[in-house]
Order: sequence, then structure tokens, then C-alpha cells
Amino acid sequence: MDAATCPQCSSEMAARQRGGVTVLQCASCEGLFLPRADLGLLIEQENDWHLSQGPRTQPIPRIMPGMTPPPDLTPVKQPRSYVDELFG
Ligand SMILES: [Zn+2]
Repeated sequence: MDAATCPQCSSEMAARQRGGVTVLQCASCEGLFLPRADLGLLIEQENDWHLSQGPRTQPIPRIMPGMTPPPDLTPVKQPRSYVDELFG
């Protein structure tokens, strides 16, 4: 695919490789254009990505006398999806 004009805002769209698929992305509104078949490939990769995401929790510690406070458990920002990871 060559560069094209965004149908949404008329800015230039540039080709980008994401997940083995070439998409055109608008530099201004971040709109995307890709062939329908490539969308199917990304959806398959999305499903595979979710299958590989196991639970990320630690076992609850047994409460003992003289315990020290727990480590900082502030959650690390995780991508919500494979596509989020690709384009985030
Ligand atoms: Zn645009």
C-alpha cells in the first residue's frame, strides 16, 4: 500500500508495519486503513495474545506475628489487548 489521504481529515496516511500487517495510519487523527483479510489476521493474533496472558497475581501470604508491611502493590499499567499493545 502506498501513502494515501485520510478520508476523515484529509491528512496524509503513512504505511506502518504492525503484527506482520501493513496498515495506513493517519498522522493527524490516527485513523487506520487496512484490508479486511489483514483485520482477520490481527483478530487471530489478538485471540492468541489473550491465551498467552496468564493471571498475574501472587499467592496471599500467611499472616504471621512480626510481619513486615507488604511491598508496593500498585498495579503496573498493562495493555488491555494485543491491538492496544501494537498501537498504544
Ligand atoms: Zn485523519
